[in-house]
Formats: sequence, C-alpha cells, structure tokens
Amino acid sequence: SEKDAALAAAASPAAADTPTIFDKIINKEIPSTVVYEDDKVLAFRDIEPQAPTHILIIPKVKDGLSGLSKAEERHIEILGYLLYIAKVVAKQEGLDDGFRIVINDGPKGCQSVYHLHIHLIGGRQMNWPPG
Ligand code: 5GP
Repeated sequence: SEKDAALAAAASPAAADTPTIFDKIINKEIPSTVVYEDDKVLAFRDIEPQAPTHILIIPKVKDGLSGLSKAEERHIEILGYLLYIAKVVAKQEGLDDGFRIVINDGPKGCQSVYHLHIHLIGGRQMNWPPG
C-alpha cells in the first residue's frame, strides 16, 4: 500500500531526501488550494480536512526534514518561521478564538507524508486528550 511504501521510505537511509507528494504540490504538478505562499513556505488546505479549517504549512525546500525528528541545528530558522506563518495563516483564516497546531512524527505519531508539515486546525471546539 501507499502507507507501507511511505514507512519503508522513511526507514531507508535516503528517506530524508526522498521526494513525496508534497514536492508535486510545491511544483504545482498536483493542484491544491494555496492559502499562503512565499519563497520559503507553502500553506494549502488538507485534502481530508478534520475540521472546518485544516491547513498544512510546509517548507518548500525539504533539506532532510522528512519529519521533526530529523531536525538539525541548521533547521532552527525554518522551524521558527513555519510556526510564525502558522500564526499568520490562523489570523488570515479568522481563527481568533483559538486553533490547534499538530506535527505528527513517525509511525507512532501517525505521520503519513515524510516531508515536515505543520497542521493548522480550527473552526470548531478541539478536545484533549487527542486520539
Ligand atoms: P500526516 O498524517 O503525515 O501528519 O499528514 C499528512 C496530511 O496530508 C494528511 O492530513 C492528508 O490528508 C494530507 N494529504 C495527503 N495527500 C494530500 C494531497 O495530495 N493534497 C492535500 N491537499 N493534502 C494531502
């Protein structure tokens, strides 16, 4: 399955730079609803929204960031920038009463695409603990 392939890719030494479907979204080979874009990041609506607002914020250059667990010191600036843009997009989406930021990492974190992404979820009451 596609999920098994993703897990196998993630486990291989080359996983850090293996292309994912997000490269095709960045290159506009696959259509997506872009809500924010600049030279460093892209934000687009999740194809399977878990709330009225569900947006993915990703670095345009993966640079080995298949997931947060692969972060190195050189990624500190882009990691901070992604989080800042999440806030900018939350405001743009009118999520003034709150929202949730999620980063799934690895099989136990339910990660399915191995290109770092921040989920911005809102527009309904969130619950805790998460599933
Ligand atoms: P993960 O499970 O890795 O944290 O999140 C991956 C997310 O990417 C999922 O929420 C999934 O719905 C979304 N996704 C997967 N493929 C596509 C796609 O082709 N287009 C868009 N817009 N979202 C996608």
